[in-house]
Amino acid sequence: MHLPKSEALLERARRVIPGGVNSPVRAFRSVGGTPPFIARGDGPVITDVDGNAYIDYVCSWGPLLLGHRHPAILDALRAVLDVGTSFGAPTEREIRLAELIQAAMPSMEMVRLVNSGTEATMSALRVARGFTGRELAIKFEGCYHGHVDSLLVKAGSGVATLGLPDTAGVPRAFADTTIALPYNSIEALEAAFSAHGDRIASVIVEPVAGNMGCIPPAPGFLEAMRRLCTEHGALLIFDEVMTGFRVAHGGAQQLYGIRPDLTTIGKVIGGGLPIAGYGGRTDIMSHVAPVGPIYQAGTLSGNPLAVAAGIAVLEHLAGHPEVYAGIEERTAALCAAPPEGVTVNRVGSMFTFFFTDQPVTDYESAKRSDTKKFARFFHHMLASGVYLAPSQFEAGFVSAAHSAEDIARTAAAAAAFPG
Ligand SMILES: *Cc1c(COP(=O)(O)O)cnc(C)c1O
Repeated sequence: MHLPKSEALLERARRVIPGGVNSPVRAFRSVGGTPPFIARGDGPVITDVDGNAYIDYVCSWGPLLLGHRHPAILDALRAVLDVGTSFGAPTEREIRLAELIQAAMPSMEMVRLVNSGTEATMSALRVARGFTGRELAIKFEGCYHGHVDSLLVKAGSGVATLGLPDTAGVPRAFADTTIALPYNSIEALEAAFSAHGDRIASVIVEPVAGNMGCIPPAPGFLEAMRRLCTEHGALLIFDEVMTGFRVAHGGAQQLYGIRPDLTTIGKVIGGGLPIAGYGGRTDIMSHVAPVGPIYQAGTLSGNPLAVAAGIAVLEHLAGHPEVYAGIEERTAALCAAPPEGVTVNRVGSMFTFFFTDQPVTDYESAKRSDTKKFARFFHHMLASGVYLAPSQFEAGFVSAAHSAEDIARTAAAAAAFPG
């Protein structure tokens, strides 16, 4: 790759920003090399500061379901620039966005808007604790819910062991409020509930995992979770920050027919602007301030620019339900002929090529992938003009802007991978 300008920018960035990046995976640590600094995006394509163009399967890590600079989003943003970009006071657009979310995801009877997925999951956990009066949360190994203190844990050995912090800076006492279980294990869930049932406030899950690569829920897994939460008085939180408006218009809860008590959303609902939300049952959300005693707030929450972009995306999707069949079809075409020895997981327009010939159903099996081979594949694709996520343990995304030709070009590049 010819990246002299990106190399110079990275050197300059490293002096003032840790690692030169504002989110760690952007630094390409797990695949090596210099991350291209991006100058612009057009539909399915991004162009770096050295003039290299790439077909983009990162799509800003999921938000850009309609591709870069969709005209409806640009028009909505321009309209806001004419009237003011922030008031810290209620605006009509916020109601419209909440109504659009509620119409697509009926379980979200009430919604509170926040600025990032991390804030959404942090707040949902607090609401679950405040509502139930309990402290423990169950999460699943390999699921990512943002950089919330108590959720950055990995399991100790065995089922129903309390978590150990996965990062410096998280007090042991916070990690102790989390039980980490293997994804797709109904047995582990049952064991955890029988050991700690009356202390569990919530189960939080990516209903389709996307942050250890794409891993679908095994048949019965989400159903068992729903049943156990109801039996034990715990709240079921679907973290649909990635899957909401992505795997289906109504998210994974529509796809699998499960009604969670609380849901977190983000990414697609902002069309590339920073916004997220949490919501669910009215009786639960009525405990949130100013109505109830559970405090949560935000200076820029419901920001007019982000809300306007969100409305543009969700109105477009509501008016063009065929978008989902189209992106699913093109993603299926992309996944039809993977390189040899690769296991492909796909749900809708989320996909991962795992460099292992064994099925990938949880974090343990994902970790059996040959990450060195993935790194070679990644750089082969980058040199072929295809921008994939720079880690084996990420999902790829196809947008409505990707054409059949883009997919065919990408598949041809993958087929030419020498191994
Ligand atoms: C991206 C993501 C988050 C965190 O969202 P941020 O906006 O990065 O804070 C939380 N949960 C899931 C499932 C995500 O994919």
